[in-house]
Amino acid sequence: MTTHGTHQVVIIGSGPAGWTAALYTGRANLKPVVYEGAAPNVPGGQLMWTSEVENFPGFPHGIKGPEMMAKFKEQAERFGTVAKQQNIASVDLSKRPFTLTTEDGDVVTTDSLIIATGATAKLLGLPKEKELMNSGAGVSACATCDGAFYKGEELIVVGGGDSAMEEALYLTRFASKVTLVHRREEFRASKIMVDRARAHDKIAWELNQIPTEIVTEKKKVGIFEKDWLVGVKVRHAKTGEEKVLKAGGLFVAIGHQPNTKLFEGALDVDDKGYLVPQARSSKTKIPGVFICGDVQDSVYRQAITAAGSGCMAAIDAERFLAGH
Ligand code: NAP
Repeated sequence: MTTHGTHQVVIIGSGPAGWTAALYTGRANLKPVVYEGAAPNVPGGQLMWTSEVENFPGFPHGIKGPEMMAKFKEQAERFGTVAKQQNIASVDLSKRPFTLTTEDGDVVTTDSLIIATGATAKLLGLPKEKELMNSGAGVSACATCDGAFYKGEELIVVGGGDSAMEEALYLTRFASKVTLVHRREEFRASKIMVDRARAHDKIAWELNQIPTEIVTEKKKVGIFEKDWLVGVKVRHAKTGEEKVLKAGGLFVAIGHQPNTKLFEGALDVDDKGYLVPQARSSKTKIPGVFICGDVQDSVYRQAITAAGSGCMAAIDAERFLAGH
């Protein structure tokens, strides 16, 4: 077991929120330490699954998600951020300095903690799903991120909540047709969202359908051939009948899971399980613990809003440390 001296700021998470918090606390000379995560987690967060980011201001020609995260990291390191490729296994927030233990058994203490652990899009758990998503080959969990790559295609959205309705409506801007596949007849989505989607002539409905298989074909990309989604096999929940729905893209919209396990019982969560900040700040009920990014945001969930909230957390942490 290794014990380090007490840090001023430790940041858990390495998405846009975490690195922005590191950039700001680094420039404030607080020598932040970022726990980026390690396998099976992927340092860099959800943008590591995004091929092209076209909606982050400052990149007029777009930028690849992983490349953008490398730039975030480089900028934070320029101001003295220390990055650790380790997972945090447990935290003790009951007294200051706070104590963090890594999966490798390192024990770390810190006067302030910024939580930027993000949220994970839920997937259907079908074979090839994750692989195709990672390689940008027809599977996505973010219409805002990837919709524009599917101009003129027939698309499938899976889910029956507000996210599915919203994604289906958004995708009608690009797709020739959007088929909404849901495993029941009733929707979790609000009536107004269902009505809006129902009124759209590009949206078709496949209800009581459970996705069971992703259908792929080999497609030539440059000199390589790679598996590409061409459809989704579904089974009717009542009759058991199976069929393949053809599609150029599958958007999985079955909810997100905020990554809050480490803080269970210590910090307040809302009815969806997201951490709750105190009004118009990144503060929590524990002085010295700040939250930012998707772990505290079930509404906007964009790279730019996460980065903005990372800046807020850094400023709140800086002021807290100055006052103590
Ligand atoms: P959600 O409300 O939890 O809905 C998830 C949907 O996915 C449900 O219909 C569920 O089906 C389905 N589902 C879950 N696991 C599945 C699986 N393994 N296979 C097939 N289907 C599966 O999640 P959400 O739509 O992301 O919304 C989360 C929260 O954000 C909600 O409170 C929502 O109101 C809010 N939100 C609001 C807006 C807006 O107001 N504009 C937009 C987006 C999200 P079952 O119904 O059968 O369980």
